[in-house]
Amino acid sequence: METYDGGAGAPQAEGVPGDAAEARTDEVRADEVRPGQASTEEAGAEGSTEGVRPTDARTTLPVAELHLHIEGTLEPELIFALAERNGITLPYADLDELRARYEFTDLQSFLDLYYANMAVLQTEQDFADMTRAYLARAATAGVRHAEIMMDPQAHLSRGVSLATCVNGVASVLATSQQEFGISTLLIAAFLRDLSEDSALEVLEQLLAMDAPIAGIGLDSAEVGNPPSKFQRLFARAKEAGLRRIAHAGEEGPTAYIIEALDVLGVERIDHGIRCMEDTDLVERLVHELMPLTVCPLSNVRLRAVDTLAEHPLPAMLAAGLNVSVNSDDPAYFGGYVDDNFARLRSEIGLSDFDCVRLAANSIRSSFADEDRKTELLAELAASGR
Ligand SMILES: [Zn+2]
Repeated sequence: METYDGGAGAPQAEGVPGDAAEARTDEVRADEVRPGQASTEEAGAEGSTEGVRPTDARTTLPVAELHLHIEGTLEPELIFALAERNGITLPYADLDELRARYEFTDLQSFLDLYYANMAVLQTEQDFADMTRAYLARAATAGVRHAEIMMDPQAHLSRGVSLATCVNGVASVLATSQQEFGISTLLIAAFLRDLSEDSALEVLEQLLAMDAPIAGIGLDSAEVGNPPSKFQRLFARAKEAGLRRIAHAGEEGPTAYIIEALDVLGVERIDHGIRCMEDTDLVERLVHELMPLTVCPLSNVRLRAVDTLAEHPLPAMLAAGLNVSVNSDDPAYFGGYVDDNFARLRSEIGLSDFDCVRLAANSIRSSFADEDRKTELLAELAASGR
C-alpha cells in the first residue's frame, strides 16, 4: 500500500503531546508502536498528560475535525430558513415534524432524509451560509482545524452546478482561519452507490475547474459498494496529487477496510469500527499508525452500535489504534465534537488522558502542514495550564 511519508505528517499512535517539538522533528516509525501497548491508565501514569486537564464534561480541547460532511451540518432551523428564501415547500409542517424524522433505523434511513433536505441548497449563498454556520458552531466546540467533505454528485443530480456548491463552500473556507480560528481543507466525497464512471467524470470536472480540493473521500451507502469498485478513481486522484480517504467498516465488513488500504491506498479510514472483529487487521492498523476517524454519536444514531456504553472506542484506544473523535453529520446525529466528548465522558467515563490523546491523534492525523500541526499541538499542551 501507499502511505504518506512521516514528513507529511504521519500521526503518532501514542497520541500525547508531551512536547510539541517532537511532532516537528520526529520521523515516526511504525516499529515504535507497540500493538497492545500499555492501557491508557498505565500510559497516563507516565505523566505525559500532566498539566492538561479539561475542567468539565464539555471539553473544548483544541481538536482537528477529520470526519465531517458539510451537508450533514444543515440544522432544521436553517433548512426552514433556506426553504423560505428559495420558495421551496418542505414536506414538513414545522420544526417539530422535521425533528421527528431524525429517528433512524440504519444508514439508509438517514441517507433518505439527508438527501431530501439538500433540496433547500440552491445558491452559492445557501452553501456559504451552511458552511459559516458550521464553522461558528465548531469554533465553540474547540475545532481548530477542519477537513470538510462535500458531496458534489448529490448536488449535480439536483441540477445544482459544481461551481455553485464548490464556490459557495470554498468562499467561506477561504477566510475561516481569520474569521473563526479554524484552518480548513475541502475534500470531495464520492457517492459509492453511484458508478465509478460518474465519480471519475466529476473528479475530472473538479480538476478542470481547479477546484480548491485537497483530497477525495468515499461515502454514502457502504454495504454492497466495496472500495474496489473505485480503484480507477483513487488511482486518478493519486496521480492528481490529492489526498485519499474512504469510509470503511461502519456497516460494511472488515474486508472493506482491507480493500480501502490495499486497493485504494487510502491515508485514513473513516469510521473503521468493525476492524475490532479482526485481530490481525487491528494489529496491522496499529503497526501502520492508520488513522481511524471514529464518530461515536453517529454510530449510535445509525444503530451501528446499540448504545454509547457498548461503543468500541475504549477497546480501540486500549488496542493502540490511532483513533480520533468526530461528528460526521452533527445536525442529524445529536451533536458536534464537544457533544461527542461530553457524552463519552459522562456515559463511558472517558478519562482526561484519553480526551487529550484523542485530540492529539486528530491533529497528527490531519493533512494540515507541519507548522500548523506544531502550533495546534502546542496549544493542546498548554490548554490545561
Ligand atoms: Zn461519514
